[in-house]
Amino acid sequence: MKFAIVGAGVAGSFMASMLKQKNHNIEVFELYKKEQHFPVCAWGASRHMLSHFSEMAGLNFDDYIFHVGQRIGIRLPNGKNDYLNCMGLVTYDKKRWEDDLLNGVNINYDVRCTKENFPFHKYDYVLDCTGFHRSLLPKPKEEELIIPAWEYLVDNVHDADEFYILGYKNATGYFWFFPLNNGRAYVGAGDMNRIYLGVDEFFKENPTARILTKIGRPIRITPPTRMEPLTNGNVIGVGESVGCVFPLLGEGIIPSLICSEILLDLFENKEYSDKEYRKRLFKKLGYYDEVYKVIRLKMAGKLNTVKHFKILYKLYRNMKKEERRFGFEVSMEKLLNLLNSL
Ligand SMILES: Cc1cc2nc3c(=O)[nH]c(=O)nc-3n(C[C@H](O)[C@H](O)[C@H](O)COP(=O)(O)OP(=O)(O)OC[C@H]3O[C@@H](n4cnc5c(N)ncnc54)[C@H](O)[C@@H]3O)c2cc1C
Repeated sequence: MKFAIVGAGVAGSFMASMLKQKNHNIEVFELYKKEQHFPVCAWGASRHMLSHFSEMAGLNFDDYIFHVGQRIGIRLPNGKNDYLNCMGLVTYDKKRWEDDLLNGVNINYDVRCTKENFPFHKYDYVLDCTGFHRSLLPKPKEEELIIPAWEYLVDNVHDADEFYILGYKNATGYFWFFPLNNGRAYVGAGDMNRIYLGVDEFFKENPTARILTKIGRPIRITPPTRMEPLTNGNVIGVGESVGCVFPLLGEGIIPSLICSEILLDLFENKEYSDKEYRKRLFKKLGYYDEVYKVIRLKMAGKLNTVKHFKILYKLYRNMKKEERRFGFEVSMEKLLNLLNSL
C-alpha cells in the first residue's frame, strides 16, 4: 500500500521504519529542516518497552541508553519529600534512535503539510503523526486540555544524578530533572499557570550548570477517548495527535508507540478499519480517560481521596498491572500521599 507519513517524531519514525520493512510504499514529510529537526522531549521512558519496540525495528536499545534510574525523588509542595524506586526508567538518545529508524527512508524536510495543501488522493492512507499540532485531522469535538511546557538542556551538572520532580499545587503540572550522560540533563517544567517553580531553585542548587539550549512546546493531556475524530477520510491519527499521552505524567513516548503497534498489527493482518482501530486503541488506552478525570478534579480543587476512592483505585490497578511499562514502582499509598499533598 502507499502511505504518507506526516511528522517524523517518535510515532512517524517508528511507523516509517516498520512499514518500509513490510515493503509498503512510504513517503515521509517533516515540518523542520533536517538540521533543525530535534525531538523536544525529556527523553525519559521505560527500557523494557523501548527494548521491545527497538527489537521490532531491528535496533538494540542498550546502544541508546544514557542513564539508568535508581530512584525518582519526589519533592512535594508541602515541603515533604518522597521517592519511587525505578523499575527500568531510563533516559536515552532519542534523537539518534529516531534518526536510526529513519535511516534509508526518503524524507521531505521543510514541508508544512496542511489540510488545504496536502494531496490526500495520492495515497491509500495518510498518517497524521504531527503530535501536538494534529495538522491533518479536524479539531477535536471536545475542549482540549493542553499544558505549556519547556526545558533547558544543561551540562556541567556535578552532584545531581537521580531523576527528581517537584509536583505543583492542584496538579497544574510539575518540574523535572532528568539526568542524561556526561553531566548533561534536561531541566524543565510543564505548568498550566506558567510559573514553572523549581527551575530557578535548580540553578541555585547547581551553580556550575550551563545552559546549552532552551526548547519547548505544549503537551496534549486530552486522552484518545476525547480526541474524536481519530480518523477522517483516508487520514489516520497516530500518537499524540490523537491523545496518546498518559495524562498524569505528560508522558507520550510509550503511548505513541503502543498506538503505532496497534495500527501496524491491523495492517499486517489486513484487519484495518476505522472502527477496529478505535476499538483496539480504547481497549488499551481507554483508562487514560479516568486518569484525565482525576487530573481535572484535582485542578478544580474537587478531588477527595475518600469520595473518589473507587476511581483512584481503578487508576492504581491499571498502572500497577503495567509497572514495567511505566518503569517505576506503582504504590497506592504513595499515589494517595502525592494527591493529598498537591
Ligand atoms: C518539554 C517536553 C518534555 C517531554 N518529556 C517526555 C518524556 O521524558 N517522556 C515521554 O514519554 N514523553 C515526554 N513528552 C511527551 C512526548 O515527547 C510526546 O508525547 C511524543 O513525542 C509524541 O510523539 P509523536 O510522534 O506523536 O509527536 P512528536 O514526537 O511531537 O512528532 C511530531 C512531528 O511532526 C512534525 N510536524 C508537526 N506539524 C507538521 C506539519 N504540519 N507538517 C509536517 N510535519 C509536522 C513535528 O515537527 C515533529 O517532528 C514531553 C513533551 C514535552 C513538550
